[in-house]
Amino acid sequence: MAFNITTINVRSIKTEIRAQSVLSFLERFNSDVFLLQECGLPFLSSYRKWEDKWQHGPSIWSGSNFNKNDGVAILIKTPHVVVRGSTVVDREPVCPVRGLAIGEPTTVWRNVAHPALLNQHRDLSWMVAHEILPVRVVMHSRGMARTSACPRPGCGQEESVRHLLWECRAARDLWKEVGPLISPCLPAGEDLTPQLVLYGVGRRPIPPKAFTKLWPTLTCLKAALWSSRNLLVAKQVNTTPQAVAMVATEALGWYRRKGASTPGEGVPTTPKVPAATA
Ligand SMILES: [Zn+2]
Repeated sequence: MAFNITTINVRSIKTEIRAQSVLSFLERFNSDVFLLQECGLPFLSSYRKWEDKWQHGPSIWSGSNFNKNDGVAILIKTPHVVVRGSTVVDREPVCPVRGLAIGEPTTVWRNVAHPALLNQHRDLSWMVAHEILPVRVVMHSRGMARTSACPRPGCGQEESVRHLLWECRAARDLWKEVGPLISPCLPAGEDLTPQLVLYGVGRRPIPPKAFTKLWPTLTCLKAALWSSRNLLVAKQVNTTPQAVAMVATEALGWYRRKGASTPGEGVPTTPKVPAATA
């Protein structure tokens, strides 16, 4: 099912007058979903005041106390999208994910927003599932990178999301290195496959308790791998698989100390990837 989506920078919708005028302006557009940037709202536990103003369907609001320009909102103007909590759920079958069987995308989209993940890791999972993590293939296709080739020395293959996280030598070395870290969380009969690593889809359904341990572990490793790749691109610093594993383990420690994250809760500072000595 196709939706018309309109995105607009509203440059603050904080005051009553501003909110009224922006929302009545939007009402005139023939759009199903509106994405509002720079709402200029503070962080609030409830955005009821703004939700009530949008009477064409559900709306999701956000704000920040750190930057007065922050705050994005999603306004729905179609009965085909229902909102449960702060998660937008399409009533139609979820969009397909490459390389997965029918039915599995549901699992993928659920995993992307898994409650055990930190917000920053949900973002990463979301970009991985949509194949929009800004790797070279993605950036090149948008005219924002000179080449689509993987930046790892001696690789030269196209840097897709799957290449970065699974096929590249650096990725394969990492998954080999961290085998002992992952094995205790792998249910019997499961092993590391690209579907499991990228999307959290196992050969058979993984019991929720095991998955709550496995998924953050895989996600921390993917995040560390992505950081090491960015460090290479930005600073020409090479990292060993051991160093990447260490960064992931450090991030995992935060999960262990805090337990499952709750939306809006603070996130740990991103640990620095130690430079390789080799
Ligand atoms: Zn590569």
